[in-house]
Amino acid sequence: MKNRYDVLIIGAGPAGAMAAKTAGEIGLKTAVIERKTNPAEITRSCATMFAIESDYYFGERMYYCDKTRKMVFPVNGLTVDYDGPARNFYGWHFYAPDGVSRIAFGDYEKNIKMGNSGRLSFIYDKGLLLESLIHDAKKNGADIYTGLNFNAISKTTDGLKVRASDMEFEAAFVIGADGISSRTAGLMGFNRDRVFFNRTGKKSCTVKGLDIPDPESINFVNCPNGNTTFPVWISPGPVPGEHMIEFKDDSEFEIFTKKSPFAKWCKNMEITRTMGYVLSLYSPVSWPCKDNVLLAGDATWFGEAEITGSMLCGWKAAHAVALAFKNGLLNDEGVASYGQWWEKSFPGFADYRNFFMILLFVKSILSPEEINYLYQSIKAPLTATLNPFRVVDLVKEAFAPAMEQAAKEMPSLAQKLQMMDIKNFDMILRMVQKKG
Ligand SMILES: Cc1cc2nc3c(=O)[nH]c(=O)nc-3n(C[C@H](O)[C@H](O)[C@H](O)COP(=O)(O)OP(=O)(O)OC[C@H]3O[C@@H](n4cnc5c(N)ncnc54)[C@H](O)[C@@H]3O)c2cc1C
Repeated sequence: MKNRYDVLIIGAGPAGAMAAKTAGEIGLKTAVIERKTNPAEITRSCATMFAIESDYYFGERMYYCDKTRKMVFPVNGLTVDYDGPARNFYGWHFYAPDGVSRIAFGDYEKNIKMGNSGRLSFIYDKGLLLESLIHDAKKNGADIYTGLNFNAISKTTDGLKVRASDMEFEAAFVIGADGISSRTAGLMGFNRDRVFFNRTGKKSCTVKGLDIPDPESINFVNCPNGNTTFPVWISPGPVPGEHMIEFKDDSEFEIFTKKSPFAKWCKNMEITRTMGYVLSLYSPVSWPCKDNVLLAGDATWFGEAEITGSMLCGWKAAHAVALAFKNGLLNDEGVASYGQWWEKSFPGFADYRNFFMILLFVKSILSPEEINYLYQSIKAPLTATLNPFRVVDLVKEAFAPAMEQAAKEMPSLAQKLQMMDIKNFDMILRMVQKKG
């Protein structure tokens, strides 16, 4: 068959583009099927923080080498070229609904004076990164089919048959790198044993002229709305003067920008681009390989595997396929090294529910008064981390000395914080779901 490949990759995001570059480089006959006509054009919201430079993450201790302009993954032993803009940020701030009190991860004032060595991490240009990966994939011999919508897959005696728009392909292995709402995962039955939590749509816009305190920081805002709050995310863009704001819908955006204590930041703000995204939240897959299909990136995880984690998946999946060919084991046993790596680097690295805890913590558990009290009580900057799996525990730890007083002055807050423990996860989740 004309369109027969050693490995066929579905999706040319960070996971797929990295898989294609790697598979081509190590001599596999490789093709990519991508729905977009220009795979490097970003059409889905992404804050594009290098996630993360401040801690171990996905079993890695990745960082950017400013001198060589390379993303370095020392644990796994690879580098990725990136030569575009990189804008440092020096703190992660959580704002209370009073518009002033905040919990700071990292000492912004001190860190910004240190320049590169004081940054929590940096924002870069995802489009340029993808462009470079796809360029390398083509250079390494991969065929990139764009504007094709993958819609069917079936097992054959020697691999898989795939249909995308009006074209048919065959391959010994398929790497499903088609993102968080992965059709590969659905069609191949990977989702059958996963817990489905929620599907939500959100918006984001790129703005100029936002007058935010300490602009070289990332910010999470608890925006007041009557007796509740809603979350707004603000992060710098890759070039100075730009920010990205992420919110649920236009009515929340209107409250945030015009009627909240944060409206003062938005007086001279100009929107330059609006985007959106859909998040399908499942628990992680139990194993990422099945019937010669290897899932990579967001397709495997409970939410975002991040750009860095997704690239690692693509890289490792391609190597596992090469190993299967080398060993003449063109089956799931042949690519088991990918599953073992993934299990250690994702579910083994962190209990995914700790990430959910932060969402529940900021979303609807605490009242505006409770958040104000909590944030006012934590004055000194906390550990300079960008690790979302640690946030709730770090906040609780910092608040511990004030707990006794809070039990008298605001007992509801003290009770809720005590309850915010991973062992109560199911109960908290039910509470939040009941609230809507
Ligand atoms: C609001 C928001 C903010 C984020 N911020 C950050 C951040 O700051 N830092 C960070 O590292 N990550 C961030 N992420 C996460 C990051 O965007 C993803 O984790 C990453 O892009 C996942 O890479 P992927 O290759 O697995 O999937 P994707 O990037 O989703 O790529 C999947 C590709 O598959 C293609 N595709 C899908 N279906 C088909 C089909 N049927 N046929 C053909 N092609 C198909 C898509 O067009 C796409 O090109 C953020 C995400 C969101 C939503």
